[in-house]
Amino acid sequence: MMIGTKIYDLQRDLKGVFNEWRSLSFDTVFVSTSLYSNYKFRKLMKEKKMTVFIIFPVFYDPEALEKNPELYSITNKGEKAVDEWVKFVCPTRDDYRKNKVEEMKKVVTELNPDGLSLDFIRYFVFWEKIYPGRTLESIPNCCFCPYCIEKFQEDSKLAMPTEIMDNQRIVEFIQNNLSIEWTKWKCTNISNFIKEITQEVRKLKPDILINVHVLPWRQIDFDGAIEKIAGQDLKEIAKIVDFISPMCYSHMLKRKPSWINAVVKNMYELTKQKIVPSIQVERSYLTTEITTEEFSEMVVQAVKVPSSGVIFWSWEKIQDNPEKMEQIKTIINRKPQINDTI
Ligand SMILES: [Zn+2]
Repeated sequence: MMIGTKIYDLQRDLKGVFNEWRSLSFDTVFVSTSLYSNYKFRKLMKEKKMTVFIIFPVFYDPEALEKNPELYSITNKGEKAVDEWVKFVCPTRDDYRKNKVEEMKKVVTELNPDGLSLDFIRYFVFWEKIYPGRTLESIPNCCFCPYCIEKFQEDSKLAMPTEIMDNQRIVEFIQNNLSIEWTKWKCTNISNFIKEITQEVRKLKPDILINVHVLPWRQIDFDGAIEKIAGQDLKEIAKIVDFISPMCYSHMLKRKPSWINAVVKNMYELTKQKIVPSIQVERSYLTTEITTEEFSEMVVQAVKVPSSGVIFWSWEKIQDNPEKMEQIKTIINRKPQINDTI
């Protein structure tokens, strides 16, 4: 059972924070490259045998897009893949992919983390604001940039009818006639990249753990959008990596806490892999608060079988909330009993 937290910024004294983690039964932390570059932090984590994953954003890279707007993913409406802060790079560009692999190899060589946690390794979608009831058709489908349109035809050996010349009509043709092939191709682009990254970093560190952040969408949600929109084929991904971590931010997505377990169950049945849901601690996007009662139920649902643990998002939110901290202590310590009763 992995009990951990995502940390973005560590302000307080390290030893004090570490003791708090111990009291919460945390054995794993998910951190940014910059935090793990801090020598004192890295040393303490090694000394105390905490498992550390570096979170590595893959196709979310505003800086790269700023430098080279040609990299933008393009939606089925012909627009750039931008929705508020969410901006996505096209997932098939060889140079970009090569650079990312090199960046990851550098991180593994220089910082030697226990694991890599691959984030944003999927197609564009602002899923944090997709609520129950949305239709598949209302969610943008990517990537229809000229490069992808050509590569799709090349890879799948399917040529567009010659009379279809302009991009928008090609998009329509693909969506109307080749949607199964299109989804399969998208999923392969993502799975193959996860495979390539995993193989490359394992050459440097054979026992490195690989976790993948996946959308908290069951197969039934939005008519198969996890594959059709995000390009995340969990069955394939599960064969490559050590952990699958759905971002089960129930409150933000207007779901009940019991939905967290439903997502984990669905993913476990599909993959037989270790599923470690990430749950939110404080409200996000919405204005209603997460009460201590609701939070407590979220934790219970997150660790329920067949879950392999829980990751709290984020430490910054836990440390400001002693009541929720107490809830975590009580529930996580109660864990064996929860398992026994199921
Ligand atoms: Zn593209």
